[in-house]
Amino acid sequence: MFSVFDDLVGQEHIIDILKGAVAASRTGSDSQEMTHAWVFTGPPGSGRSLAAVAFAQALICPNQGCGACQECHSAATGGHPDVEIIRTEGLSIKVEEIRELLSRVAWAPSMGGWRVVVMEDADRLTESAANALLKAIEEPGTRTVWLLCAPTLHDVLPTIRSRCRHLQLRTPSVETVTQVLIRRDNISQPMADFAARVSQGHIGRARYIATNKSVRTNRKVILQLPLQLGSLAATFQAAQILVDLATEEANSSSASKDEAEIEKLQAAYGKGATGRGVATGAAKAVKELEKEQKARATRMVRDSIDGLLLQLATFYRDVMMVQSGAADSMINSDMWTEIEDHALHISTHSAVQKMSAIMEARNQLAMNAAPLLTCEALMCHLARR
Ligand SMILES: [Zn+2]
Repeated sequence: MFSVFDDLVGQEHIIDILKGAVAASRTGSDSQEMTHAWVFTGPPGSGRSLAAVAFAQALICPNQGCGACQECHSAATGGHPDVEIIRTEGLSIKVEEIRELLSRVAWAPSMGGWRVVVMEDADRLTESAANALLKAIEEPGTRTVWLLCAPTLHDVLPTIRSRCRHLQLRTPSVETVTQVLIRRDNISQPMADFAARVSQGHIGRARYIATNKSVRTNRKVILQLPLQLGSLAATFQAAQILVDLATEEANSSSASKDEAEIEKLQAAYGKGATGRGVATGAAKAVKELEKEQKARATRMVRDSIDGLLLQLATFYRDVMMVQSGAADSMINSDMWTEIEDHALHISTHSAVQKMSAIMEARNQLAMNAAPLLTCEALMCHLARR
């Protein structure tokens, strides 16, 4: 029983609550443990959508989330008729998408238990989309369970969050992440140590760094950028390097996916079919898909830039650590010499300002600012003493 929760590293406090809810949900009546709407919050990498999906599996699995049965499997891969996993490819979730979703989930669950909707990016709901969703959440007596995920509670409209039970995930410790990488991914101890430390408790990122040499090389390039802002030309070049690396990272993971999706779609229409109706239908569908893929690619580049900016911020964090005499808690200890040298050249006040400038740039990008311009402005700020 309950093995779907095994992957939720360092989240024992919420696993107990979810198990209680699953047990209560079997009694069929609404109880304190089991409610219809939940919000999972936590920093990127804490596993908030992992937790929501595990909960969805446990709710529909005959064995309360064994992780091995057909129900558990199809729920996690999006093939279960009673489980909807909404992953956003664009920058926002629009009201039309919510209306379409509501018409899909309006029916009683096919298996007689629960219908579960996992919304991975509830923070991307537009206001009108959130209002449409609110009506569905408020509806009494339905068998639909809403599992919303967002970085923080503030990212969810107050009207919605007041109707949800809130679960806050923790950032797992560096030691916990290290152990998972060694145990689950067969990564060597030194590499696991390194990846866990530089990814700051972000398990997905840690695994990515540990298993991907080019990502490790890119990290080095990013951490060298603060040392290369000597001239205006170099400053602009640094911004370009950052955006290029992010684009490259994002493309390498989306290109193969795009191709596979198009092939699958063409196969569905019968590739090479010559009937006129079929051919136009297929061409139209491919065009639609390409549009969606483009939106996804844009978002992936933004996510990559965000990851690289976070990495850049750790440089200035470490500078401050050295300045405050706490060098042993450095994240990027492999760059010890460069960071120590930089700590002599800028004041702590300036390091703080540079860190906030990086965070501000991340906020602006999250609000759809132009990536290159934002990075250029940031690099100009970082170039100041
Ligand atoms: Zn199961």
